[in-house]
Amino acid sequence: MSQHIIVIGAGPAGLAFARAYQCGAGRGGAGRNAARITIVERQSRDAIAAPAPDGREIALTGQSVRMLGDLGVWPMILAEEAWPLQGARVLDGGSSFVMAIDAHRGRAADGGTLGMMVSNHIIRRALHDALGLENGQDKGIDLVCDATVTGIERNDSGVTVRLDGGETLSGDMVIAADSRFSTARAMLGIGVDMLPTGKSMLLARVEHEADHGGLASEWFDYGQTIAMLPLAPKMSSFVLTVPHAAAQHIASLGSEALGAIITERTHGRWGQCQARTPAHVYPLTMTYSHHFSGQRAALIGDAAVGMHPVTAHGFNFGLMGAVRLARAMQRSGDVARGAMLRSWAIRHRAATLPLYIATRSLVGLYTDEHVAARLTRRAVLRLGGTAPVRGALSRLLSANAG
Ligand SMILES: Cc1cc2nc3c(=O)[nH]c(=O)nc-3n(C[C@H](O)[C@H](O)[C@H](O)COP(=O)(O)OP(=O)(O)OC[C@H]3O[C@@H](n4cnc5c(N)ncnc54)[C@H](O)[C@@H]3O)c2cc1C
Repeated sequence: MSQHIIVIGAGPAGLAFARAYQCGAGRGGAGRNAARITIVERQSRDAIAAPAPDGREIALTGQSVRMLGDLGVWPMILAEEAWPLQGARVLDGGSSFVMAIDAHRGRAADGGTLGMMVSNHIIRRALHDALGLENGQDKGIDLVCDATVTGIERNDSGVTVRLDGGETLSGDMVIAADSRFSTARAMLGIGVDMLPTGKSMLLARVEHEADHGGLASEWFDYGQTIAMLPLAPKMSSFVLTVPHAAAQHIASLGSEALGAIITERTHGRWGQCQARTPAHVYPLTMTYSHHFSGQRAALIGDAAVGMHPVTAHGFNFGLMGAVRLARAMQRSGDVARGAMLRSWAIRHRAATLPLYIATRSLVGLYTDEHVAARLTRRAVLRLGGTAPVRGALSRLLSANAG
């Protein structure tokens, strides 16, 4: 009898795992013995099939774009829904020094870009569509919506997952993909390092007078960090990091006032700015789970690693971890084999921990307003401006670690 995997959360990571497993099974990876997958999601089916915009514009690395292509997800994204990221510029306060990060020239397959910008809700929609759940055929995947997981039990022979309606699901393996504040992780008894930054990110799409040239700008100013992420011509995603109360206050203003505040806070670098969407606010907490696997269990996506968006790697890591786990399961033949899960977890920690630690240091350095910190970050920026460091950063951002 085929095995059964229960995935908790139909966010980008949970859907990416299901799609990677489905693709591998179709290519003969697990053949006729492919496991069945049930995805449990607390939101409605409509919210998963046609997700609403949430303000997040995701910078996908070249490696992620290739993986989404292999999974048949990239073709579900329309040409006008993806914008090339040609490079990035990092500025510090009032200093005239600019660190430029350009696309790694060695990868012709990436078309000389650092990556692609795609809205989070478009990625979610594309992942859902690629699963082909709506066409009535059995694709080996069941999506159970409007159901919240309230309990998990495991023993040597299987797992039992309890839902809020009182039903239970029995399976061989459970995968937590239920966000950085994962309750499934707690139910599995896995601890987590949590770093609340005390800041929030405010996001809104803006139309502006100046041309962005496909370049992202990250500006560590005094008391605020601003990023402008290039979308359509003269359209960017404005990203402001400030204390939570300030972000909430700005988000409560009407679109005209929001545009005026963006023009003022960007010091007119992009000319007059007009807000084209309402603002969304995300409190920023970084998380790193103590373990990514356990008996008949694994954590993927933000449930494993909750990155700070400043280095734009949360989904990129989530996708990589989900795809590698699906492949490891198919190679193993037993989706819950302990040695396979441990080896996947070790590899995913090795791939994510260095950038997680670097990001945590960066966040600390750039939110500290003491004179020593200001001098240090100016030095770091200048060191980063040297060719070898710039090249390494470019390779990391465009291709991702191995
Ligand atoms: C402002 C911002 C900008 C970002 N920019 C980038 C970027 O440029 N590049 C990048 O790679 N990443 C970026 N990210 C990170 C990226 O958005 C996340 O890594 C990604 O969305 C996480 O996906 P996930 O599936 O792990 O979790 P989520 O998207 O949080 O999905 C979790 C799902 O689980 C469901 N769920 C939760 N609990 C339960 C339960 N008990 N029972 C059933 N269902 C449950 C939820 O309803 C949800 O659908 C950004 C994040 C933010 C906040």
